[in-house]
Amino acid sequence: MADFFDDNPDYREVDTDTDSSVDTQAVDKDDEGKHSSRDHDETSGKDRHKKMRFCAFCGREESTVKSMIELPNNLCICSDCMQRGFDSMHTMFPGGLNLNDLQNNPNISMINLGSFGFPDMGQDNLRKKPEKRPDGEEQEKTGPRIFDRKKVPAPHQIKAALDEHVIGQDQAKKVMSVAVYNHYKRISADEADGVEIEKSNMLLIGPTGCGKTYLVRMLAKLLDVPLAIADATSLTEAGYIGDDVESVASKLLAAADNDVERAEHGIIFIDEIDKIAKKKNTNQRDVSGEAVQQGLLKLLEGSEIEVPVGATSKNAMVPMVTMNTRNILFICGGAFPDLELVIKERLNKQASIGFYADLKDKYDNDPLLLHKVTIEDLRNFGMIPEFLGRLPVIVALDGLTEDMLVRILKEPRNAILKQYQKLLAMDEVKLTFDDSSLHAIAAKAMERNTGARALRAILEQYMLDIMFEIPKDENIGEVVITREYIEGTGGPRIVLRGQQMALPG
Ligand code: ADP
Repeated sequence: MADFFDDNPDYREVDTDTDSSVDTQAVDKDDEGKHSSRDHDETSGKDRHKKMRFCAFCGREESTVKSMIELPNNLCICSDCMQRGFDSMHTMFPGGLNLNDLQNNPNISMINLGSFGFPDMGQDNLRKKPEKRPDGEEQEKTGPRIFDRKKVPAPHQIKAALDEHVIGQDQAKKVMSVAVYNHYKRISADEADGVEIEKSNMLLIGPTGCGKTYLVRMLAKLLDVPLAIADATSLTEAGYIGDDVESVASKLLAAADNDVERAEHGIIFIDEIDKIAKKKNTNQRDVSGEAVQQGLLKLLEGSEIEVPVGATSKNAMVPMVTMNTRNILFICGGAFPDLELVIKERLNKQASIGFYADLKDKYDNDPLLLHKVTIEDLRNFGMIPEFLGRLPVIVALDGLTEDMLVRILKEPRNAILKQYQKLLAMDEVKLTFDDSSLHAIAAKAMERNTGARALRAILEQYMLDIMFEIPKDENIGEVVITREYIEGTGGPRIVLRGQQMALPG
């Protein structure tokens, strides 16, 4: 063993004993001791010396590299050098490597990568496109799910299904239903007649918590297509710290269980798109703003990209797969906080010109101001024209009013109130909410300015005591949440089993 380590440059002995110099001197002094010391080295060397592995190419030590690969004859190569080796092979054979090139080249010997025990290389995880079986069956039950356009419901059906979950936002639901329907028609359209239907990527504009993400989630669920939700704030120009734009496609691939074909028909929702507006008055390179918009262009339009499998960033050890984004529906969403000012400025300018000049504050409290958005306004906000050109469907969502919040509490199929009622019903306790209590909850949510997102947090706070106390007493048959309870001036009304509830007045 010791001979091998002495002969092999890739294994160096590192003395972990800090007092090694003292040790050597002691050995020099005593001849006998020298022998005994060597014996000790050979017998219990493991105790004092730790064998460290070094890369045969770059010489770096194991703990400073990503992973160390052991080759035959006890050679070690770090993963970076291994990748560099592969890259230079690609340079030698620009047309692609094939087995003959390798076998005919005397300088190259074949190595079996499978024997290295790499973490799952992913290729086996990739679902291949389904093969047609002779009996016409396209796939096995366990195989990939193929997108079938005929199963896409008509726009009115899509909207009706969205109505069950999303309150208000009628215009957005209508526009989205048509856009999605057309998008999936476009995928199967025959282009032989020279008419190419353009992609109907969308831009959703609306305040936070008004249902942008929720609409997209419901849409993907309804259509049974994979959905990836990405945050534009985490994206940066390739090469800078952060995710590059192609990472959104790898998220979609993961959502499709690595089924490339399914992913190619999926939906990518990029939230907070307003955060990548062009930075104003900056001399520095805008790596997280304009550059990201530029980077997204080819993705939105449709192109072949190399996507890492099982990771969001490309690196030497991650296998890649080619994905075409042509049929992926991109939906971008953002709150565009100061866009209303831009719209108002434009409208005021128009209104103040000429004979029919209007009042200056005409648009100050216009709740539909966002619906008057134009491409020009978005350009003034900082979105580049090429980017906007690839999002032909632009739709504004309404800010939620108190009445809408009350409806969100009780009406959707999966409404929060229904969830609490179901929980208490399991204890055979009926839970009811006074209408005035719902308005009190909605009013509190309005104060937080985070849309419907605040509702659950507020309700949770009030329901905690109820959920804790009620199961204690089996005699309780009904709990009524009152306005007083929400406003902190009273408690909920409790009705015992077999007791008639006293009606007010
Ligand atoms: P954003 O517009 O910021 O993307 P979300 O769609 O994430 O907001 O909304 C947050 C949550 O609020 C959703 O998960 C959903 O439960 C609820 N919500 C928001 N708007 C609506 C709506 N119009 N109808 C029903 N629920 C809604």
